[in-house]
Amino acid sequence: MSGEMDKPLISRRLVDSDGSLAEVPKEAPKVGILGSGDFARSLATRLVGSGFSVVVGSRNPKRTAGLFPSLAQVTFQEEAVSSPEVIFVAVFREHYSSLCSLADQLAGKILVDVSNPTEKEHLQHRQSNAEYLASLFPACTVVKAFNVISAWALQAGPRDGNRQVLICSDQPEAKRTISEMARAMGFTPLDMGSLASAREVEAIPLRLLPSWKVPTLLALGLFVCFYTYNFIRDVLQPYIRKDENKFYKMPLSVVNTTLPCVAYVLLSLVYLPGVLAAALQLRRGTKYQRFPDWLDHWLQHRKQIGLLSFFFAMLHALYSFCLPLRRSHRYDLVNLAVKQVLANKSRLWAEEEVWRMEIYLSLGVLALGMLSLLAVTSLPSIANSLNWKEFSFVQSTLGFVALILSTMHTLTYGWTRAFEENHYKFYLPPTFTLTLLLPCVIILAKGLFLLPCLNRRLTKIRRGWEKDGAVKFMLPGDHTQGEKTSHV
Ligand code: NAP
Repeated sequence: MSGEMDKPLISRRLVDSDGSLAEVPKEAPKVGILGSGDFARSLATRLVGSGFSVVVGSRNPKRTAGLFPSLAQVTFQEEAVSSPEVIFVAVFREHYSSLCSLADQLAGKILVDVSNPTEKEHLQHRQSNAEYLASLFPACTVVKAFNVISAWALQAGPRDGNRQVLICSDQPEAKRTISEMARAMGFTPLDMGSLASAREVEAIPLRLLPSWKVPTLLALGLFVCFYTYNFIRDVLQPYIRKDENKFYKMPLSVVNTTLPCVAYVLLSLVYLPGVLAAALQLRRGTKYQRFPDWLDHWLQHRKQIGLLSFFFAMLHALYSFCLPLRRSHRYDLVNLAVKQVLANKSRLWAEEEVWRMEIYLSLGVLALGMLSLLAVTSLPSIANSLNWKEFSFVQSTLGFVALILSTMHTLTYGWTRAFEENHYKFYLPPTFTLTLLLPCVIILAKGLFLLPCLNRRLTKIRRGWEKDGAVKFMLPGDHTQGEKTSHV
């Protein structure tokens, strides 16, 4: 048998450590990597898998060679930087100066700075790592790239992580070369401008969910306040006034009383800024004036506040399911049954209570269902499949329906308790009455905006109508009118 069968099944294709196949062209572009750590290893694997020829420069190649894909050449630093035109510097900033002995060999080449500073280093150094590298090697072109990609994402490939590679450099040609390389590796390059942007690019991996910080602190603050309030009412008051030990309620019962309060107030905080914005527009008689910064930020954080409201509502539902599982609940039931027997009562049935409970649970489930819908449609993949009208219908109209359902849920839960003296413990009103204040104001304000006189004026303003003298356009140099200038 000769001919086709003699040929190897996988001829010039290579199976790499990550299992992917890579076609190595006859003259694969050569890329150098300085450093043999985690990032260097992942980068070498991905580069080899993408058809590049890789040479790694290490201070101790013998020790590290076994950790790299067999197709990558691991050698001493001097040898590694001699032939490639592009060299990745995969070492930490504090070790850059140890590479200065290679300056002559590196002259005229592209150095790719992949480093990330720690938070302390970022504050300490005014110069970015990439600019510092450029100052040490003035004869090289430095490109900042790949620092936002983790070693793990490099190794796993761009399917399993962030695809964007932010690139900046003072040399457009060098930027183009690295962009093409990123594209060949399956990533999406994003031009961030000159090397002066490197500090900003290096700050990105230091951020931890920046848009969630204020909403999360707000939610935690509300939780602490409501928990303390409920603790005083449900645990401390019986202990001080009646000498009853109710401290067992702290981990579950008090938490479950607190969760819906937080969810409900957060949901109202999603709709309050819209009401304030409408009121402001009505008062100003124009939409062409900027909202105050605090209102602007609040409007921008509505999605996060809404998702946190959903999170707390979900926890409330789960905790509520657990309530009958508690041993304390079983004891309560048995004690009640014994009491019934001793009192010689055969059937315990309070019609009003039964109805209240049925309605209140049903409204709660409906409100949670509505909130789930809002949460799902706020996911980018779902939101992208909706047009603007559909998205605003779900988020605005159905969201408001969720607020009304939650209000009805709270009212049926409270029933007549707000008017019964024995529910004012330490003169503190029941918690649900406090949570009702804000949503009731919002629902009332929304109702007012539906009045024809206000609704017509608001619609006109939102279509660009302006009250006489609402906005004054400023000529260059006229600073006295700054306050009233349109920001559109
Ligand atoms: P690492 O595992 O500690 O590797 C650093 C490498 O630097 C060492 O293996 C060492 O290789 C080399 N090196 C060169 N000169 C050195 C010297 N004088 N002293 C000590 N080491 C020296 O670190 P890494 O995680 O690969 O990170 C490398 C760079 O990539 C850092 O700037 C980091 O910020 C950046 N980065 C890392 C990740 C990640 O997920 N790990 C993500 C983005 C960016 P030899 O001993 O072979 O010379």
